[in-house]
Amino acid sequence: MKLETKCVREGYQPKNGEPGALPIVQSTTYVFDSTQHIADLFDMPTECMYSRFANPTVDAVEKKIAALEGGAAAMCTSSGQAASLLSVLNLCNAGDSLLAVSSLYGGTINLFAVSLKKFGIECIFVDPEASEEELEKAIKPNTRLVFGETLANPALNIFDIERFANFAHAHNIPLIVDNTFPTPVLCRPIEFGADIVVHSTTKYMDGHALQGGGVIVDSGKFDWTNGNFPEFTQPDESYHGVIYSESFGNIAYIIKARMQLMRDFGCYPAANSAFLLNLGLETLAVRMERYCKNALAAAEYLSQNENVVSVSYPGLETDPYHERSKKYLPDGCSGVISFVIKGGRERATKFMDALKMASREVHVADIRTCVLHPASMTHRQLTDEQLIAAGIDAGMIRLSVGLEHIDDILADLEQAFANS
Ligand SMILES: *Cc1c(COP(=O)(O)O)cnc(C)c1O
Repeated sequence: MKLETKCVREGYQPKNGEPGALPIVQSTTYVFDSTQHIADLFDMPTECMYSRFANPTVDAVEKKIAALEGGAAAMCTSSGQAASLLSVLNLCNAGDSLLAVSSLYGGTINLFAVSLKKFGIECIFVDPEASEEELEKAIKPNTRLVFGETLANPALNIFDIERFANFAHAHNIPLIVDNTFPTPVLCRPIEFGADIVVHSTTKYMDGHALQGGGVIVDSGKFDWTNGNFPEFTQPDESYHGVIYSESFGNIAYIIKARMQLMRDFGCYPAANSAFLLNLGLETLAVRMERYCKNALAAAEYLSQNENVVSVSYPGLETDPYHERSKKYLPDGCSGVISFVIKGGRERATKFMDALKMASREVHVADIRTCVLHPASMTHRQLTDEQLIAAGIDAGMIRLSVGLEHIDDILADLEQAFANS
């Protein structure tokens, strides 16, 4: 099946007489004919037992997303943050470290630098364009994984997935990639060597700003028996002595995440959330095409506008990441643009307040065009000097282009420039 078809058809295939649309299975539990059947399920969890870590509606969505990413299996979580957290905790214990590039979503940076540190897990950050020598220096004997973000939020630089996959594999550790902004419609990191893919499904996958969620996809390709990951090759006493790599083969990573972490932490989405996410996924391929088209037109308009100092959007030929976009994002660079307005902080807020259609909101990848001012919102605690150090201009606006007609989007920007 082609990707467009998978969006519509994967995950749920009704049998004779069953509902045509994915049903919401609103039940915390399941009933079985014998005690032995349930005992067998503890050995091989092929059916849902309890809603803290499995549900048939969520299961269908997990299968669809795994198929879209070209992975072997997936597990949904109640938020993107939970997906990033569990993807790391599945490999790192206290005393371990991970290597992450510095251009990541702000919430991920805080999770890795502040919260994981409290658990005794150290994150070493490297420049995404660091030399081989610098990368080698950053790696330590206890480094368990490498983490990057395909199209960074909000910096909009493109992560060189293939290069970092080769680097990670040379050290016998996996590469985890946050693929939230491109979605599998625009980029499938597993094709470039990524081992695990995570998403905030809250963004384009849901697409309608309805409910939060996340997902972890296992490529099924990493060799957990290489000697670096004893938790996969030695019995798990908390799960009646299971050896994940032996019992679960190429889906050992996702089963371990489900049976250890989801079982114990319980950040599983509700069936109703998965139903809504599935609606978003059904139209994902169609929507991404329009987001890309609208965003490129808006980026071109902004780059020629006298009120604008600079525009970041890899789809622009003048963008420093344009060359790399041809490899990783050949069908388009998604819907988010960052631009710096002339007149700094004051003009930026005036411009935002003058917008008549675009929504001022703390979100991105909404179906509606929306704007956010990092300096007074997500990065509010920083002074103007600290903002510069973080690469954020006080006049920077993050524009998430929606699915309205491009003429209406540009007309709104035009009148807001004139009235600010
Ligand atoms: C929003 C976002 C997250 C966090 O997702 P939530 O669903 O808000 O928890 C992680 N990564 C990226 C790239 C994001 O944009």
